Amino acid sequence: MKLSQLTSYLESLAPLAYQEDYDNSGLIVGHPDQEINHALVSLDCTEAVVDEAITTGCQVVISHHPIVFKGLKKFNGKTYVERVVEKAIRHNIALYAIHTNLDSIMDGVNAKICETLGLTNTRILTPRHGLLKKLVTFVPVEQAEQVRKALFHAGAGHIGNYSEVSFNAGGTGTFKAGEGSNPYVGEVGMRHSEAEVRIESIYPANLESKIIMALVLAHPYEEVAYDLYSLTNQNQQVGSGMIGELEEAMDEADFLAGIKASMDCKVIRHTALLGRRVKKVAVCGGSGSFLLKHAIAAGADVFITADYKYHEFFDAEGKIVIADIGHFESEQFTQQLLCELIQKKFSNFAIRLTKVNTNPVKYFI
Ligand SMILES: [Zn+2]
Repeated sequence: MKLSQLTSYLESLAPLAYQEDYDNSGLIVGHPDQEINHALVSLDCTEAVVDEAITTGCQVVISHHPIVFKGLKKFNGKTYVERVVEKAIRHNIALYAIHTNLDSIMDGVNAKICETLGLTNTRILTPRHGLLKKLVTFVPVEQAEQVRKALFHAGAGHIGNYSEVSFNAGGTGTFKAGEGSNPYVGEVGMRHSEAEVRIESIYPANLESKIIMALVLAHPYEEVAYDLYSLTNQNQQVGSGMIGELEEAMDEADFLAGIKASMDCKVIRHTALLGRRVKKVAVCGGSGSFLLKHAIAAGADVFITADYKYHEFFDAEGKIVIADIGHFESEQFTQQLLCELIQKKFSNFAIRLTKVNTNPVKYFI
């Protein structure tokens, strides 16, 4: 299949618009029209991973972390980033990253951690603002259903577990068609009144052009009237970190021992245990210290994340146990998650999980 089939599917699950400003998710090297039949999935895109793609006949490396974050000015092999990009281009290997956009969705990196830890009642820890908009349009009564259908089909009307959400109110629209127009109803030069339905529906801002296109195609009028509203509502389905609950409250030390086993970590750096049972657990794959106050506010007993600095550990203030399990360790199952997501859609497509352990951190035990 074409590379674009795979990348548009991944971006339908984790839209690029959900990535953080500093990120560089998306197709980094390669052409969307490139034919592919094998993909290699890895947490990081290192030289060893690109070598593995070459020897195993994979035409694309799908990694969580982008190999390139900043603009590259020279390609003389001085840094590993330049060498990886150069090698990929020379061997016609596409490089694709699905990073903070995959961190931000309900079924992404953090859901995989929650699943591994056996957490239930999971929700996004800090839902994101500014991702939702509202469309209001006015449609003749007869065509209201076809327009609603088209809007829903294009992605409007989702709130939590509910779909096809809209509000509809009847009223009267007026218009006078001018010279050169070809009105669907009424006559040129005469004011016309038409029974219309005002349809309101919420939509993800990143789907706006698709939704407007669907509206214009389904609407019978030559000039379609619609209003677009920016909303300050949170999108509960998109954001940073996750929080969930253990089926049964556990002793803190037992819980940490359990994480060590299930997340396959050699060591956990943590703040003082508080001598209470662990029930609520907040998680953030990778560097999550910025979420600490949200984890405390949400009543989490333990916050599992990585990349904690010495001084940041003091911020626990006896209110929560911070458990730094390591960046690679916290996100290692993202590789399996990506394989599962791709296989769900393209069951005959060959996906290979990297055999390279890309963790640059070693433990001297
Ligand atoms: Zn990461």
